[in-house]
Amino acid sequence: AKHGGRGIVRLFDEVMDESIRFRRQIEGGLSEAIAKGELKLVFQPIVARDQLEITGFEALIRWCSPEYGMVSPGMFIPIAEESNLIHELGDWVIDRAVETLKTWPGQYVSVNFSPRQFRRHNFVAHVMERVANAGVEPGRFQIEITETAIFDDVERAAETLFKLRQMGFRIALDDFGTGYSSLYNIRRFALDCLKIDRSFVDGMGRERESAAIVHSIIHLGRALGMEVVAEGVETEAQLQALRLAGCSHLQGYYLARPMDVEDALVLANRGYIG
Ligand code: C2E
Ligand code: CA
Ligand code: CA
Ligand code: CA
Repeated sequence: AKHGGRGIVRLFDEVMDESIRFRRQIEGGLSEAIAKGELKLVFQPIVARDQLEITGFEALIRWCSPEYGMVSPGMFIPIAEESNLIHELGDWVIDRAVETLKTWPGQYVSVNFSPRQFRRHNFVAHVMERVANAGVEPGRFQIEITETAIFDDVERAAETLFKLRQMGFRIALDDFGTGYSSLYNIRRFALDCLKIDRSFVDGMGRERESAAIVHSIIHLGRALGMEVVAEGVETEAQLQALRLAGCSHLQGYYLARPMDVEDALVLANRGYIG
């Protein structure tokens, strides 16, 4: 190249500076976003296979920033996760989710927890207190965690999950199939639900491998008495294939997109999709 090695190094430094500055900006903006009311939750229905009855809603966070526009959680959750912000943010999500849940006739709310939240000291008591204070039954509150949250300290995670289950919370393993869970550990954990990662559902119609993985997860879940939710259902063909495969629950744009709280309430009262 024209500028030689030094130029490349300098360019690299500049890019790094830029990304650190960007990260700091997001961090700063995010911590104010809560106070300024720039965060909101949207809700996506989770439905039972046959009648498309709505059994729950997944809560998904949105940041509507006057400065940056709609910031995707895929962008800011990892940044929050690397600072203590994730706890403040997480508590805000729990409280909002629980408040919304109170307006629905019977569905559960499914809340995403990042690994750092899950490993927090006194996690169980912390969540229990917030849910109980709101007068909500733990059985209508589902905790979604990923394999990453569990598998670096399996003993501790098993204990946490056991306690959560004892208090009546629902537990879902999110993005299942993309992490490092061994079947041995899956058996040990107290889980209510496996969520098949969207990438497998997406590949199902094209590759035998994805279809085979989807089928095995469904069988595994059924054999162990767990609900299985297929994420990212985008087409009628996927819906039919998943039904045929015996997948108990479905979630995805084809059924319903994540929606504002008011629309979620209307759907919750109707009870069914379509
Ligand atoms: P996730 O938990 O795997 O959530 C599913 C993502 O897939 C959501 O993206 C959802 O809007 C999207 N989705 C749903 N159906 C379809 C579909 O049919 N097709 C496609 N292409 N996408 C679909 P979103 O809302 O952008 O969230 C991204 C990720 O951010 C989530 O992935 C989750 O890991 C994280 N996240 C979202 N809200 C929270 C939160 O409150 N707390 C924490 N810790 N993480 C959150
Ligand atoms: Ca999730
Ligand atoms: Ca997921
Ligand atoms: Ca995901």
